[in-house]
Amino acid sequence: MTARLFVGSLLSFLVLVFAPMMAHAETNWVEFPDKSNVAIDKEWTITFNTPISPDAVNNQNIYLKSVSGKLNPELTLSNDGKRITVQPPDDGYKPGGYYALYVTQEVTSQLGKKMEKGYKQMFQIDPNAEVPGGGSGSEPGEEDTTEEPEEKTVLSTGTVTADILNVREKPTASSDKVGALSRGDSVKIYDFEDYWAEIEYNGKTAYVHKTYMKLRKEGGTAVEGQRIVVDAGHGDHDPGAQYGGAIEKEINLDVAQRVAERLKKLGATPILTRDNDRFLTLDGRVKYAKDVNADLFISIHANAAYKGAKGAEVFYSAEKLSNVEESRVLATKIQNHLVDDVGMYDRGVKSERFYVIHHNTLPSVLVELGFVTNDGDRAKLQSNYYRDLFSKAITDGIVDYFEEPVK
Ligand SMILES: [Zn+2]
Repeated sequence: MTARLFVGSLLSFLVLVFAPMMAHAETNWVEFPDKSNVAIDKEWTITFNTPISPDAVNNQNIYLKSVSGKLNPELTLSNDGKRITVQPPDDGYKPGGYYALYVTQEVTSQLGKKMEKGYKQMFQIDPNAEVPGGGSGSEPGEEDTTEEPEEKTVLSTGTVTADILNVREKPTASSDKVGALSRGDSVKIYDFEDYWAEIEYNGKTAYVHKTYMKLRKEGGTAVEGQRIVVDAGHGDHDPGAQYGGAIEKEINLDVAQRVAERLKKLGATPILTRDNDRFLTLDGRVKYAKDVNADLFISIHANAAYKGAKGAEVFYSAEKLSNVEESRVLATKIQNHLVDDVGMYDRGVKSERFYVIHHNTLPSVLVELGFVTNDGDRAKLQSNYYRDLFSKAITDGIVDYFEEPVK
């Protein structure tokens, strides 16, 4: 976790800082917050937005400092030139020791650009750490010569939901295709850059678009870390369905907020398109889901028709271009809970080309909770108790969806 933070923040800074050669040689430092309890065998990884000149990878430009002075750790540059790994110093880190990792602005890109500022990360090694391979127990002369493979932290596993998913050399759609995965293939993910997931392909770092994968956080529950857009339908001058004092936009918002609260408690990242009474265009809602790098999209609505029409129904678009099966599974899971747990009349799961779900690349559904025009449904839609049940049904359906393996 600490390592990721460092890499992440450095990356976001470095994306901006390669500038034409600076006249001043003096280094200004960007200081990162201290990290504590760092592993004694910690290898720092420094990620750059552009390939680094191999000549610049030396202990003049990148080094460690301890209380006793400068240390010259071994540095390795990745094949793509964008990552530098910093090994522990020759004598190893000391338990509880204070260190700083320095990256000076003399680190130049392959295009000859320098950084605007240097970077400095202070850290303390875990005071309770055991010295690796050391201690009194080891036999003299016994040396461990086994080469440890480069260890990368797996963040998530992704299972492909598209028939064919292109694997690219770099995290952009225009980058060279190095291969392809097919539906049901599972890959380990080492990092995320916006919508791009970093994987290993034929022993090399490569990227796939995360929209076409069902993700599962390493060591977490199925729903943990999922970015779920909860879209309360209508708003402001667009009230939606209205009958007998029930106003759809208000019901949608209340239930959406309750869903968001429940998802948060489960460790997911709910993202509301609106958390107050304001107007959003349909296209704005779809674009928003894209902008926030979401994994799932749920739009919440209530229905209106003649008095006798009643019940819940969940829509997906069978004609959209991606994640159709995922959308259908999600719709089915939510509908099951609305019927079984809230006692709504079962109108079924249906396909419709509603804008927010049809024009959405993510797994997307539109939930119609019930009819404001039906007395029984309206009583539920207006009740605090039932709104909570509705939100639980939707949340349980989302959890079921994430737990369902890709078929
Ligand atoms: Zn509506």
